[in-house]
Amino acid sequence: MVNLICGQNEVEIINSLAERLKNYATVKQETEITLKKQKLPVYSFSFGESKEDQPCLIFVGGVHGLELIGSQLVVSYLTSLSNMLEWDQVFRMQLMKMKLIFYPCANPGGLVNNTRSNPSGIDIMRNAPLDGKNIPFYHLHSGQRYSKYLPWYRGKKKKEMEPESQALCRFIRREAFTSPVSLIVDIHSGFGVRDRIWFPYAYSKKVYPRLAEMVKFTELLQKSFPQNIYKIEPQCLNYRTHGDLWDFLFLEHVDKFDKGNIFLPLCLELGSWSWIRKNPLQIFSNKGPFHPVVPHRHKRILRRHLYFFDFLMRLVISHKNWLSISDSDRKELESKGQVRWYQRYNK
Ligand SMILES: [Zn+2]
Repeated sequence: MVNLICGQNEVEIINSLAERLKNYATVKQETEITLKKQKLPVYSFSFGESKEDQPCLIFVGGVHGLELIGSQLVVSYLTSLSNMLEWDQVFRMQLMKMKLIFYPCANPGGLVNNTRSNPSGIDIMRNAPLDGKNIPFYHLHSGQRYSKYLPWYRGKKKKEMEPESQALCRFIRREAFTSPVSLIVDIHSGFGVRDRIWFPYAYSKKVYPRLAEMVKFTELLQKSFPQNIYKIEPQCLNYRTHGDLWDFLFLEHVDKFDKGNIFLPLCLELGSWSWIRKNPLQIFSNKGPFHPVVPHRHKRILRRHLYFFDFLMRLVISHKNWLSISDSDRKELESKGQVRWYQRYNK
């Protein structure tokens, strides 16, 4: 029986997928991490048209090694779709209109070690050279430079980014930056009782420049699936962080590539506190705070988001129907976004 809470097991599943899917997908080794004597490749799996002008959808998992369920969710969806590719004509037609890419484990050393950080003790999602604004020094969870033996360590100030962070940035620049529209979902677990979709910024309370697009995204999800479970908001409404890779990449994209291209990075933060509420004893399990350890709950998490992932695919293919926003509509959407997310917060 497959062990549901073993990171080593998950890494082996991804390695075997890389072998099994090489005739169906473009499988690339993005980097390789060495952990003691073990070589741990980081893979991407790309389906569909690889032309630069195709819109793209990317799923990322395993940035934080402790949050195994994020990686498992990406792998589970990747496995389902690759099995469907053998017979599903609708899915094959969808792939003629987009690139669909999976990056199931950004931090395999963390997954194997059962740590949030990479094997050097550095938190990948606090590792970018970008300082948060007005973050009190005692907010260690926002990223700290005191010690690698404490969580949320950012790494030394002038040192280059970690190999895992560099590989993820390189991959995103190559696959997403030149697309007319790219939507990215990076899956985590740990904060709150609800499943949340966070958009930038994490480093600042500044209003997100793609506010109109996020209002449209929210309205379309609500209209299409009124019973959806997600709370959508900028990350800074909950807490701010230093070194967020998605903020860093978003700002770089605005700076260098934003000639009408739309780059929308999102984090799906699974509300793991509800799993603890239902099963308080799991707090004593090694992955308990971040992982659904009860088998039926684990299965439920793996199927709970499928309609949302399918919705994202449709959004990306149909981007011209909702992302061509006129100036007057943009103003209206931005003021709705201000009221919805920022006004109360900035008072
Ligand atoms: Zn995380």
